[in-house]
Amino acid sequence: MTLPILQNFIDGEWCESNTGNHFEVFDPAKGQPIALVPDGTSADVDAAVRAASEAFAGWRETPPLSRARYLFRLKEAFEDQFDEIAEVLTTEQGKAIDEARGEVRRMIENVEHATGVTTLMCGYTLEDIAKNIDCYGHRQPIGVFGCIAPYNFPAMVPWWFLPYALVSGNTFILKPSEQVPMTQGRIFEVIDEIGFPEGVVNLVNGSRDVVNALLNHPGISGISFVGSSPTARYIYQKCGETGKRVQSLGGAKNIVAVMADANLEAAMPSLLTSFYGCAGQRCLSGSILAPVGDIADRLVAQFSDAAKTIRVGNGLDEQTFMGPLISGAHRDRVVGYIERGIAEGAELVLDGRDISVDGYEDGFFVGPTIFDKVSPDMALASEEIFGPVVSIVRTADMDEVVELVNSRDYANAACIYTGSGAAAREFKYRVLPSMIGVNIGIAAPMSFFPFGGAGNSMFGDIKGHGQEIFQFFTDTKVVIERWF
Ligand code: NAD
Repeated sequence: MTLPILQNFIDGEWCESNTGNHFEVFDPAKGQPIALVPDGTSADVDAAVRAASEAFAGWRETPPLSRARYLFRLKEAFEDQFDEIAEVLTTEQGKAIDEARGEVRRMIENVEHATGVTTLMCGYTLEDIAKNIDCYGHRQPIGVFGCIAPYNFPAMVPWWFLPYALVSGNTFILKPSEQVPMTQGRIFEVIDEIGFPEGVVNLVNGSRDVVNALLNHPGISGISFVGSSPTARYIYQKCGETGKRVQSLGGAKNIVAVMADANLEAAMPSLLTSFYGCAGQRCLSGSILAPVGDIADRLVAQFSDAAKTIRVGNGLDEQTFMGPLISGAHRDRVVGYIERGIAEGAELVLDGRDISVDGYEDGFFVGPTIFDKVSPDMALASEEIFGPVVSIVRTADMDEVVELVNSRDYANAACIYTGSGAAAREFKYRVLPSMIGVNIGIAAPMSFFPFGGAGNSMFGDIKGHGQEIFQFFTDTKVVIERWF
C-alpha cells in the first residue's frame, strides 16, 4: 500500500518538503503505518521564515479587531469540522475519542479567548509623571514566532500560542510532532479555507533539523516549546544563545495526595481519569498516588478495583476508556519501567504488561498498572514514565507528603483530596508545582488562565495562554512625552 506523504503549508500554499527522508506515522491501535511525514530541512524553514517575514508588515498594520475576525471565522469552521478533527487526532495519537473531543474543545477555547485582543492587548498610560510630561506604553507585535510541539496533545498544544501570536500581529511557523503531524495537517486545511493573508501562518513538518533551523534562524524572534524536560532545557539554552524570546514547557511527575478524610467514592472518577486518561501520556497525568495516614489500605483496594474495570481498546470505539501508547518503542520503555519496579522491590498490585485487545493484537497497548509500597527513591517515583503506571507512595502526614512533592525533579502539577479546607490550604501553600487541584484530580487550567509549571517542568517565565501570553508576543514600547 502506498502511504500518503504529508505536505507543508508555506506562504498560503501546500508544498512538498525538499527532503528525501520521511518518518512513518502510525495508527497506534493497529500498530500500522498510515502516512509518511517529511523529515524537513533548513531550506523548508528558510522558505517559511521568508514568507512570514514578508507578511509581517501588512499583518501588523491590520487593526486588532480585523485580525480577531479571522479567529471568529476559524472558530465557526472548527465547530463545523469538530468531529473530523477529533477523529484524525484519535487515529494517529490513540486517545479515546471522547478525550480527543475534549482536546479539540480546549483548542477552540484558545481561539475564543484570543478574540479578546482589543482589551487583552491594551497597554497603559499615566499622565503627569513629571510636570507637563505624560507617559504611555503600548504593546507592539515583534515579528516571526516559532512553535515546536509534543505528541500527546496534537490539536491543543500549538493553540496555546498560535491564536495569541497571530491576533497580536505577529506571524507564525508551527512544527508539529513528527509522531502526530496529521491533526495539524487537517487543522491547516481549515486555516487554508479561512484564507489568512499569505505567509501569516505556516506549517513546517520535520524533527531535529527543523527545530535547530528554527532555533538558529535570525529571522525568528521567539519560540514557544512544549515537550520533555531535556529538550525543553536545550531549547531554552539555545534561545538564550541566539537571543530569542522563549517559553519552554517540560515534563512532569505529578503527585495526588489523598488525606484520611477524603471522600473516596466522589474522588474515584477523577482519580481514574487523572492517572489513566490518555494512557498516562499527559503532562497533567497523575503519576504518584500518595495516601496520607490510615486511608492507604482502603484507597489501594478501591482504586485497584476501579482500575480493573477500565476498558482498553481502539480509541475510536466509543466504549474505550484508555487507548494505546504512541509507539512500539514507547510501549517497550513503559514495560521496562514495570520490570524495573519489580526488580527494585515495589509490590505489583495490577500488571498491564500482558494485555491483548481483540482485533488489535499489533497495537501498542499497556493495561492499567499499579505498584504499592513504592519508596520515593525508586525510579518508579522519580522518573517521568508517561504511561498507565501508578506508583503508590504511602505517607504519614502532611509534612511527609509535601516533602515528597517538593523533592521530585519536576514541579508541574499536584492535587489533594480532602474534606478539610485547612489541609487544602496548607498543601497548596507549601508545594512547589504551580498547577494545583483540590478534590478535582490533576486538572488543566482553561485558556483564560496560564498553563505551565515550575522547576524543571518549565524554563522561562511567561506560561502558555492566560492573560500573560500577550506579554510574550509583544514588546511594550514606552513613550515619554512633552509638548511645548
Ligand atoms: P519531545 O521532547 O521528545 O519532543 C517534543 C518536540 O521536540 C517534538 O516536536 C520533537 O520533534 C522535538 N525534539 C525532540 N527531541 C529533540 C532534540 N534532541 N532536538 C531538537 N528537537 C527535538 O517530547 P514528546 O515525547 O513529543 O512529548 C512528551 C513530553 O512532553 C513529556 O515529557 C510531557 O510531560 C511533555 N509535555 C509537557 C507539557 C507541559 O505543559 N509542560 C504538555 C504536553 C507535553
